[in-house]
Amino acid sequence: MRNVIIIGSGPAGLTAALYAARANLEPLVIEGLESGGQLMLTTMVENFPGYREGVMGPDLIAELRTQAERFGTEIISGDVTAVELGSRPFAVRLGDDVQETTALIIATGASARLLGLPSERTLMGHGVSTCATCDGYFFRDKPIAVVGGGDSAMEEAIFLTKFASQVTVLHRRDQLRASKIMQDKAFANPKIAFEWNTDLAEVKDVDQGVVTGVVLRNNKTGETKELAVEGVFVAIGHTPNTSLFTDQLELDDNGYIVVGESTRTRVPGVFACGDVQDHVYRQAITAAGTGCMAAIDAERYLESL
Ligand code: NAP
Repeated sequence: MRNVIIIGSGPAGLTAALYAARANLEPLVIEGLESGGQLMLTTMVENFPGYREGVMGPDLIAELRTQAERFGTEIISGDVTAVELGSRPFAVRLGDDVQETTALIIATGASARLLGLPSERTLMGHGVSTCATCDGYFFRDKPIAVVGGGDSAMEEAIFLTKFASQVTVLHRRDQLRASKIMQDKAFANPKIAFEWNTDLAEVKDVDQGVVTGVVLRNNKTGETKELAVEGVFVAIGHTPNTSLFTDQLELDDNGYIVVGESTRTRVPGVFACGDVQDHVYRQAITAAGTGCMAAIDAERYLESL
C-alpha cells in the first residue's frame, strides 16, 4: 500500500516525485515504454532555467531522476494496463501485478503526432523537431519546412519566421484547417510559402545525420520534387496519453484531463500534471512546475484524511 503513485517519468512526474519524496511520502514512479517522455526526443534544451549553457534533453531527465531517487523515490518500469479509481485505495495494474495507493498523480504526458517516416525518427533532434518554441532559435537565417495545416502549424510557422530565412508550409490538402484569423496572419506573412496537396515523402539526409532537404510528393499528381531546407517542424497535433482514464476522469474534447483548481481532477485524491492536462504551454519547465503543484496537492490531501 503506497501513499502516492506517480504514473509517468517526464519532467512533471519526476518533479512530483522529488517533492513527494522530500515530504517523506516514499513515492513510487511507474515509467512506461517512453520513459523520460518527450525530452528524450530532443537534443539541446536551452530554455530550462539554471542551465545557462543548455543541457541535452536525456541528460536533464537523468539529472531529475537522480535527484528524485536521492530522497527515496522508487522507480519501476512497466506499462500500466489499467487503473481503478472508483474504489479506495486506488488500484494501478501492471498486467497481473496490482499496486494500491491512497493518492495518484498522473503525469503520462502527450505525444506529438508524427508522420511515421523512418527518416523523420532518425533525424529527430538533428533538424527535425516537434517544438518551435524549443528549437526555432537553432534555425537563424535558414530555410525550414513546417508540416500541417492546423492552428499549431500556423502558429509555429509564424513564430519561426522570426528566425528562419524562409518557412514553407507543407499541407496534405488544398485548404487549411486553421482558424480564419491564423490563416490570414500566415497568408500575410511574406516569409511563409505554401505547398498544397503535398505529402512529405522523406527527410534527407540520414547518411549525413543532419537535415539537408525534403522530398515532397504531390498527392494529386504523384509528382515528386526536392526542397532544400535545414529544419523540419512536424506540427500535426498532439495526442494526450489518457486512454487509461477514459470513463473515469473528465476529459476535454481533445482528450486532455480536465483539472479544476490547481492540479485536482474530479476524483478526490487523483491529480494530473504536465502535458496530459496542458495543451497550451507544453514546456519542460511548466510541466515541472505543475509536477511540483501536484505533489503539494497530494501531500495536503493525504494530511486531510
Ligand atoms: P489539428 O487542428 O488536429 O490539425 C492537425 C493538422 O495536421 C491538420 O491540418 C491535419 O490535416 C494535419 N495532419 C494530421 N495528421 C497528418 C498526417 N498524418 N499527415 C499530414 N498532415 C496531417 O491540430 P493542432 O493544429 O495541433 O490543433 C489542436 C487544437 O488546438 C485545435 O483545436 C486548435 O484550434 C487548437 N490550437 C489553437 C491555437 C490558437 O488558437 N492559438 C494554437 C494551437 C492549437 P487535415 O487538415 O487534412 O486534417
